Amino acid sequence: MAISEAPSADFYQAALRQFDDAAQHLHLPEELRLILRTPKRELTVNFPVRMDDGRVEIFTGYRVQHNVNCGPAKGGIRYAPEVSLDEVRALAMLMTWKCSVLGIPYGGAKGGVIVDRTLLSKVELERLTRRYATEISIMIGPDVDIPAPDVNTDPQIMAWIMDTLSMHSGHNVAAVVTGKPIAVGGSRGRVEATGRGVFIVTREVTKYLGRTLEGATVVVQGFGNVGSVTAKLLHDAGCKIIGLSDIFGAIHDPRGIDVPLALQYIKEHGRLAGMHGSQEINNAQLLEIPCDILIPAATEGVLTHHNADRIATKLIVEAANGPTTPDADAIFARRGIPVVPDILANAGGVTVSYFEWIQDRENFFWSERRVNDTLEEMMIESINNVLQRADTMQISLRMAAYVVAISRVAEATEFRGIYP
Ligand code: NAD
Repeated sequence: MAISEAPSADFYQAALRQFDDAAQHLHLPEELRLILRTPKRELTVNFPVRMDDGRVEIFTGYRVQHNVNCGPAKGGIRYAPEVSLDEVRALAMLMTWKCSVLGIPYGGAKGGVIVDRTLLSKVELERLTRRYATEISIMIGPDVDIPAPDVNTDPQIMAWIMDTLSMHSGHNVAAVVTGKPIAVGGSRGRVEATGRGVFIVTREVTKYLGRTLEGATVVVQGFGNVGSVTAKLLHDAGCKIIGLSDIFGAIHDPRGIDVPLALQYIKEHGRLAGMHGSQEINNAQLLEIPCDILIPAATEGVLTHHNADRIATKLIVEAANGPTTPDADAIFARRGIPVVPDILANAGGVTVSYFEWIQDRENFFWSERRVNDTLEEMMIESINNVLQRADTMQISLRMAAYVVAISRVAEATEFRGIYP
């Protein structure tokens, strides 16, 4: 069974359902609900790529802008065989709320290409990226829509996108994309930013619940960009990381996994399974390990009504986008397990992307300390806002984050009015 049990149409329906619930709490007028739940622009592109053996293959990609009432659209690009228009729509909508909950002046967008990256040579990957960037260039730009990395895309791919758009313009357009290598206008601290944000949120919510990180047992699903940084920072803060996984499988060690060693192991072997001293299990078993904090950091739809009753944790922090289905959310609420929602928990990435965009536009680059300190300040303010809203309205952390986010976009939409 695939680890992600929720098909992308369900993921989009879940995103809409979460919006509708929050709109209900906010007593939003019907016409405002209609505007805010509808994606503004959707582009599907089918394009040819010349493969190394001389054949031509046709690929399909998407770019969706959900809402741009608060500023230019912002959101990552993912490369995966499961990418679909509904998945991209759902992720674009989450980006609108994510930017808003952090108070960042952006709207939400997302992009994706249906492709198994592991089947491409580096040259094919570059040709595919440059052609996809050209196809969506009618929608992106520093004042319009600014892509970033997501699953299976990285700083190199962002550099190719930046170079392609710069070639079209005849001059450097660094601010068209974020998550770039530092050499071409990237920001210090961007690679670690999402994981650092997850760490800050976990620490602050743990404190709010009257608990401590020291000695807390943690399970992290996904050991890529987000999961590995989160696990490392929690390990450094004194947590005991007792379970880790990647797409190939999971490892469990009740005595605590040596995270720096796991990082070294995956670098050398490309997977976690086989690491000395830990027991090999599968991803489904990993999620059910009894622990203090469970951090899904891989993909959407992994906590569902099928496994929610067996999840044995005291706190869930959604590092991935959309890991919990609405049914599972309801079960966790009934069982008293707090869930820190994705739009808050993983917002560190877009926050430092925002800093990168500012630095590119000013041509003045910040120290890593300034990046991390400003990230910390903005995340703590947003977390406190959400915790306070949850307390005063007696609602879940997810609903509180949605209420904060949606009320800001709704206010901007009302002030702007309906054109013409
Ligand atoms: P990544 O590709 O670097 O890592 C993903 C990890 O999850 C890898 O270890 C991979 O092996 C594992 N994985 C993938 N599919 C899996 C599956 N079906 N079952 C178990 N493990 C699986 O991706 P990432 O950038 O770390 O993103 C992870 C999640 O965080 C995604 O939901 C992404 O949308 C979200 N996110 C990422 C960022 C960012 O800045 N990278 C920002 C916000 C949210």
